[in-house]
Amino acid sequence: MRVGCPKEIKNHEYRVGLTPGSVREYVTHGHDVLVETGAGAGIGADDNAYRAAGAKIAKTAAEVFEKSDMVVKVKEPQPQEWAQLRENQILYTYLHLAPDPDQTKGLIESGVTAVAYETVTDERGGLPLLAPMSEVAGRLSIQAGATSLQKANGGRGVLLGGVPGVLPGKVAVIGGGVVGLHAAKMAVGLGADVTIIDRSIPRLRQLDDIFNGRVHTRYSTVEALEEECFSADLIVGAVLIPGAAAPKLVSREMLSGMKKGAVLVDVAIDQGGCFETSHATTHADPTYEVDGIIHYCVANMPGAVPVTSAHALNNATLQYGLALADHGLKALVDNPHLRNGLNVHRGRITNAAVAEALGYEM
Ligand code: NAD
Repeated sequence: MRVGCPKEIKNHEYRVGLTPGSVREYVTHGHDVLVETGAGAGIGADDNAYRAAGAKIAKTAAEVFEKSDMVVKVKEPQPQEWAQLRENQILYTYLHLAPDPDQTKGLIESGVTAVAYETVTDERGGLPLLAPMSEVAGRLSIQAGATSLQKANGGRGVLLGGVPGVLPGKVAVIGGGVVGLHAAKMAVGLGADVTIIDRSIPRLRQLDDIFNGRVHTRYSTVEALEEECFSADLIVGAVLIPGAAAPKLVSREMLSGMKKGAVLVDVAIDQGGCFETSHATTHADPTYEVDGIIHYCVANMPGAVPVTSAHALNNATLQYGLALADHGLKALVDNPHLRNGLNVHRGRITNAAVAEALGYEM
């Protein structure tokens, strides 16, 4: 099969669908790989790195779309990209179709077979191609929060780890899933005093085991949220209710009970955010202040660290991409978890949630 990788064209997207390491795997499996010139520039991989891995370099995206049996990307195709997709071609990338009727229509009209990273499942009911980005965002949330806590950036002026003789900063992590676990790991690593709040008691038990007494765990009630938020220097919002908007767990009223200059990092902002006062921000202007509380609400946090993010994403996507390249559509028949990734096939929606959200018949 010929596998193609165009350069990402969405605003400020620096990741790439195939790293040189992934290209080498596809080539080892006997596939031809065509990469658009400059596709890896954002992660420091130039055309020669791709040539060394066995890829051919295409001068334009159009050449990649025209000649490839499967197109591997990161972000959902933009209008000029979906116009180049066609029947008997596989598109393998993040799609997030439910809130995007225009893209959905574009993919239906193209006839392409579109496999979405975000709906591929695993045997434990997880979303293995979403998890690496939650790991990145969780770890990054503490870096972002620690920077925002510095006085010159509007924060309280607290060093999370403290120093000998001075207490460390207090971090409250709301939601102890993938993001929350990785936020807690970084905060613990810095020496902060960390509390994780979740409404799943089995999950709290797991976290208690993982951290072996190094974090506090609390069941999520209004009282617990108030107490933890009022005493925290840094609060990370990391809740998720699958398929639903994030619940607003911290109201505007609660801000008045918090320490002036405390920082909220709302990682759940891509699902609407779990603080009432959150609105999405960008890497160019990531924070704003409401009632003396600093808010960091960047919706695509992994974009800040494309080198790490692209490699983490490729680690997760590679095995399914290779199955698609090796076996074509039969890979979807063979593996029900990969089949869950199928969102559009030859002009029809094949994912129940997307069909329901946009009013299509399956
Ligand atoms: P996850 O499913 O692994 O974890 C969510 C956790 O929230 C679960 O443990 C759940 O029990 C808990 N929860 C649900 N309701 C709660 C409540 N009322 N109180 C306390 N805890 C509650 O999800 P995840 O992968 O950790 O993702 C968390 C959020 O981060 C999602 O909205 C995801 O889309 C978002 N995210 C954002 C970025 C970004 O760049 N901003 C990147 C990756 C992920």
